[in-house]
Amino acid sequence: MKILFLGTSAGWPLPRLGCDCQICQSKDPRDKRLRPAVLINDSILIDAPPDIYHQLVNLKVDTTKINALLITHAHPDHIHGFYDLTHLYNRQIKEPKLIIPLDVLNGLRQFHSLPLKPFKPEVVQPRTVIEHQKIKISYFPVEHSRIPCYGIKMKADKIFVYLPDIVRLPRSERKPVRDVHLLVLDGSSLSKKGQTRIHQSIEEGIKLAKELKPKLCYFTHIGHITGTHKQLEAFVQKEGGRNFHIAYDGLELEI
Ligand SMILES: [Zn+2]
Ligand SMILES: [Zn+2]
Repeated sequence: MKILFLGTSAGWPLPRLGCDCQICQSKDPRDKRLRPAVLINDSILIDAPPDIYHQLVNLKVDTTKINALLITHAHPDHIHGFYDLTHLYNRQIKEPKLIIPLDVLNGLRQFHSLPLKPFKPEVVQPRTVIEHQKIKISYFPVEHSRIPCYGIKMKADKIFVYLPDIVRLPRSERKPVRDVHLLVLDGSSLSKKGQTRIHQSIEEGIKLAKELKPKLCYFTHIGHITGTHKQLEAFVQKEGGRNFHIAYDGLELEI
């Protein structure tokens, strides 16, 4: 399975407008982050952040191959680019699927009242496995804010789990997330730096990952004032171990 990180910031991009902090002034291209989204096997998109149009153009993604869109939850940083995605041309599949739980679809609908075309909604029940392009896909509920939010699990020969926004993974949802090949977690805050009520910290993520034992663990949804990519990478390697990393925009992993 191929995973391309299209964006790895939290709710607002980095650098922040007018900000002169160390991260926003960094010359390291890995410190320039747009809102969170990933592309699986060139064809399955997870989330439609406000920057999605430019992310797809800048990373030279062949958008004619996109045949499905999944959405973790209906917060602005994950859905406000949906409008741009409704103009996808020369599609290899006429009606790309919008594979989505009903409550997330309702949340998207509150923001996007126009037709969903060319996307064809396929409503899925949480914890139910559906198969798309030989990948078994399931949504499972996670605690984040007051709106419904899901983690996404994808299983082909390897297993990928995506949890960009999470304050707690309920005990009841942990079993299917154990021993996966790649676990991607919320990196919004580092201890008290950037901490909010609706996101767990990188330290809490490391603790969770040590319990779940993925082969590889990457943090995305990187918040402001947490640290530069270099500092955060050093932190997770020290506290987590060699299989812990910080994602960055344009990073491609093959698992
Ligand atoms: Zn978010
Ligand atoms: Zn969110």
